[in-house]
Amino acid sequence: MNFELTPDQVELRDAARKLATEVFRDKADRWDRNEEYPEENKKLLCELGYLGLSIDEEFGGSGRGLVDTYLVIEEIAKVDLATAIIVHEQNVSPRIIATYGPPELRQRVIPKFITGELEISIAWTEPEAGSDGAAITTTAELNGDHYIVNGQKVFTTYGDRADMHLVYARFEPSKGARGIGTILVEKDSPGLTVHKIKHKMGVRGASENELFFDNVRVPVENVVTLGSAESSKGFVKTLNVYNATRVGMGVMALGVAEGAFELAREYMTVRKQFGQRLADMQGLRWMMADMWVEIEAARGLCYQALAEVDAGRADACLSSVAKVYATEMAQRVVLNCQQMFGGYGYFGLLPLERMLRDVRMLTITGGTTQTQKNAIANHIFGR
Ligand SMILES: Cc1cc2nc3c(=O)[nH]c(=O)nc-3n(C[C@H](O)[C@H](O)[C@H](O)COP(=O)(O)OP(=O)(O)OC[C@H]3O[C@@H](n4cnc5c(N)ncnc54)[C@H](O)[C@@H]3O)c2cc1C
Repeated sequence: MNFELTPDQVELRDAARKLATEVFRDKADRWDRNEEYPEENKKLLCELGYLGLSIDEEFGGSGRGLVDTYLVIEEIAKVDLATAIIVHEQNVSPRIIATYGPPELRQRVIPKFITGELEISIAWTEPEAGSDGAAITTTAELNGDHYIVNGQKVFTTYGDRADMHLVYARFEPSKGARGIGTILVEKDSPGLTVHKIKHKMGVRGASENELFFDNVRVPVENVVTLGSAESSKGFVKTLNVYNATRVGMGVMALGVAEGAFELAREYMTVRKQFGQRLADMQGLRWMMADMWVEIEAARGLCYQALAEVDAGRADACLSSVAKVYATEMAQRVVLNCQQMFGGYGYFGLLPLERMLRDVRMLTITGGTTQTQKNAIANHIFGR
């Protein structure tokens, strides 16, 4: 397999790197400290077409593959995970709609996600259904030309600002997982209330929310995938998009690790103790070498998984492997890079403290490390 980037990919990556280092880097602390959404960054991302990188050109996107899309996201994650997540999230949900949604719905909403006129959240997790995503109890019951949605969601990223929520619900409760489908619920729908969850550890430029649905009427035209045993477009198919993109969590982790590594590398060349630079101390040099090995390994796994998706050979097990390795690796790397700064690394004056808090989320969201290992073990032993 050839991992050499094309000249076009190099140009795309370098442009994202320039934007990240010249515009996003110095503002990253602001979103964290103020728990503020990076509104001005998002505006810029829209203008540059980054929100539609992986969306087909017929909807106003760039029609690029996931390798290209995550080359951009990786560069942004090196300096600011909260901004990288905007690009990630606003590429995932529209792709679900573009892949499985009915034509009228696609045309109505996807171009607006790309321009930033509309924002979307994914409302799947419930208080009693996290890792066990098929255990959701939210229902969507047909009533004339509307569905009536009832239930509760938790941890919905951007739930307080999204114009539309991609809600996972049981359309046919008796059909088990096959009865689960997705429907777009608009933010001002009567019966929908949103509560922001407070005291978040990291990535404070994004908010998580609880959503309560009390007899919310949603037009049938807003159904993305109908949960039905007979339907070929149900729950199982939307999982394909997640299987393909959960490796995106791995790429963002890779980006944070690389950002922390570069900060440590620079510091070690100037900080002296015992009359020598940290960069000349054998114990620390080996720590850096070990981290380098892990970063290179994570990059290889992540981009191999993304290249398989782009080639139409999405490999769910490889995506899980890449996600587990890269996200766990990033925690180790950020922690060790923080160690290089001694006492200075413990304070919020340096980005390491924020990076350590930020990177923690990536082993949890998009399928926890443990559930990914279950999937890998299922692959090894058969279910
Ligand atoms: C910052 C953040 C943003 C999020 N954004 C969204 C979002 O936008 N939309 C959304 O729908 N959800 C979102 N989530 C929810 C996230 O997907 C869930 O938190 C995750 O799937 C885990 O579910 P849980 O929290 O209920 O933990 P649980 O499922 O209760 O798991 C608890 C622990 O048990 C382990 N465990 C569970 N089952 C098994 C098993 N079978 N074998 C071994 N170990 C197991 C888990 O790995 C974990 O360590 C977000 C979460 C966070 C933290």
